[in-house]
Amino acid sequence: MTTTRLPIVGQQPAAPAPAKKARRPRHPKWLRVPMPGGQAYSELKKRVNELNLHTVCQSASCPNIGECWNNKALTIMILGEICTRSCRFCDVATGRPLPVDEEEPRRVATILAELELNHTVITSVDRDDLKDGGASIWAATLEACHTLAPWMTIEVLVPDFKGQLADVDAVLAANPDVFAHNLETVPRLSREVRVQARYDRSYAVLRHAREAGALTKTGIMLGLGEELDEVREVITELGQLGLTILTLGQYLQPSKKHLPVARYVHPDEFAALAEFAREAGIAHIESGPLVRSSYHAEGQAELIQRMQQLDAYGRVGFASLQ
Ligand code: SF4
Repeated sequence: MTTTRLPIVGQQPAAPAPAKKARRPRHPKWLRVPMPGGQAYSELKKRVNELNLHTVCQSASCPNIGECWNNKALTIMILGEICTRSCRFCDVATGRPLPVDEEEPRRVATILAELELNHTVITSVDRDDLKDGGASIWAATLEACHTLAPWMTIEVLVPDFKGQLADVDAVLAANPDVFAHNLETVPRLSREVRVQARYDRSYAVLRHAREAGALTKTGIMLGLGEELDEVREVITELGQLGLTILTLGQYLQPSKKHLPVARYVHPDEFAALAEFAREAGIAHIESGPLVRSSYHAEGQAELIQRMQQLDAYGRVGFASLQ
């Protein structure tokens, strides 16, 4: 016998369950980091604010900020905090930048001298609104740092200056110890990831710096949809170029507006790529899920000094460009 359930008078049909919001996938365990905190972290944050400086650590929501800042390692971002480009992986704000702050170089040198760092990384936003792309402020920043912290080795992580090699030369002439420019991804994805940039132009900037005698460094993010063979191809080419330092790290989506993560690369794959890069002739590789271009950069100071002696590159070599 079949029975039919009759509706109970006055009872409303059950409301449909609210649709669950699509959640971004949780990071795998190797990408989870504690919330930033600690005394050194708080003091550094206060000093950065007092001097009205910007850091890529904060602007790009770097997951390593707690670890780095508690070790007094920060990456100052010069030329303001608003970028003229809109790369689809980057959390730095895009828009019309404020006028150039001519006093910024002195304040950058002040904080770095106070921290008594052996090595630091300085980067900048893209300033396509300026005729020289900000190269003169780059040079002034390096000069101020050489004056106030002459012991410190400095890596400059620069934009592509729209491929204007005279601007690249202006930075090199101010004697950075490492010249870094990030390719960010493989050639096939470059246009999609770095909307206003071009892979070949970035590569030409690196090649130019290398030919001028600089110790060069670049960084690539994994997890944007690249194939491992494409990454190996890029690494092989960089080895042939004579690149000194390579960083490989996991791309993390800063917000829903940014490109999604295509996949999480396992730490073992990072280790295998590091081995491949060593065999390709690259002297120093930082490769791992949490690696960013400036991650553990202070550990590269000794290598830099050794390479400068070995190759007779570095400050003496760059002076010939002036
Ligand atoms: S990895 Fe670089 S950007 Fe990230 S917190 Fe450390 S110094 Fe800053």
